[in-house]
Amino acid sequence: RLHNELIKLKGNIRVFCRCRPLKSEEISKGYSFVVELDPSRDTELQIICLDSSKKQFKFDHVFGPKDDQEAVFVETLPIVKSILDGYNMCIFGYGQTGSGNTFTMEGTTENGGVNYKALEELLKCSKESSSIIRYELSVSMLEVYNEKIRDPLVDNADQPVKKLEIKQVAAGIQDVPGLVEAQICSIDEVWEMLKTGARNRSVGSTNANKLSLLHCSMVRVTIKSKNLVSGQRSRSHMWLVDIAGSERVAKTEVEDQSLKECQFIDKSLLALGDVISALASKNPHIPYRNSKLTRLLQSSLGGDCKTLMFAQISPSSADLGETLCLLNFASRVR
Ligand code: ADP
Ligand code: MG
Repeated sequence: RLHNELIKLKGNIRVFCRCRPLKSEEISKGYSFVVELDPSRDTELQIICLDSSKKQFKFDHVFGPKDDQEAVFVETLPIVKSILDGYNMCIFGYGQTGSGNTFTMEGTTENGGVNYKALEELLKCSKESSSIIRYELSVSMLEVYNEKIRDPLVDNADQPVKKLEIKQVAAGIQDVPGLVEAQICSIDEVWEMLKTGARNRSVGSTNANKLSLLHCSMVRVTIKSKNLVSGQRSRSHMWLVDIAGSERVAKTEVEDQSLKECQFIDKSLLALGDVISALASKNPHIPYRNSKLTRLLQSSLGGDCKTLMFAQISPSSADLGETLCLLNFASRVR
């Protein structure tokens, strides 16, 4: 439990920054690598600005292009495990399209991301559970698209039959009645489910058209525990969120503007940014109600919940404005 004690001491919002590699098409267009990373300092990075000045940013952890999914998950695991101690939690990536949100959260078949690794690890923990505490793991999936909710675990053909809505089931606790909740007992089931979810999605992850900007896919992991001695039961949720890109409409703005000044295309992302800002500044009013995404996350963001945000950045000089914008926001959150 030591990791949880450490997490408690450090507060409830953790921010990891991840910088993807420069792509070959970026190299061939002559864009340069504007992120300076020092392997001996894994909590900071510097951005080389247009006038060659440098701006430093600090995070709970910084991952560079050489850090693979495994390296990222090693740091993420202690946070994931706090769900076993009864904490509600939320992990999400935040960054412009193409910065690696989907790569970090979902990953690829060969390089499973946080979603897959978290489920794999929790499954292992639940199997190892002592003779005193028994854990049960189940998973739902949900897609918010144009402020409409879909269940990717239900076949596309059956979707219109079942309209999904958010319902307040207790003070501050929202649920989506009718959402499929699949109990998970083996890693093959995890794989099957994540694949089904990806297949039934209204916009494929490889489909880089405009619509994909409005799409947000969420995995809700539920852990039910029962103490066999005392009979005490508990239930906690972990939301794993792959959200649409954060880019502004135009790319020509000055470098050091704040997130507020950026015009986001996506309502969910804007609303999530506002909620995170409000939580970070200890504002008593947290604007959860401004989008479906933030309403869904209400009982897993803020309060006693553990939140991990991946600030996803591109290293390309072409994205400098976006990158600074995001880093300014993300470094204020801690
Ligand atoms: P987003 O979801 O933010 O739009 P993606 O996750 O789809 O971005 O990433 C865009 C491309 O960059 C994909 O081809 C992805 O495989 C690649 N990519 C992103 N992050 C990394 C990384 N850390 N290492 C290697 N490739 C990456
Ligand atoms: Mg994506």
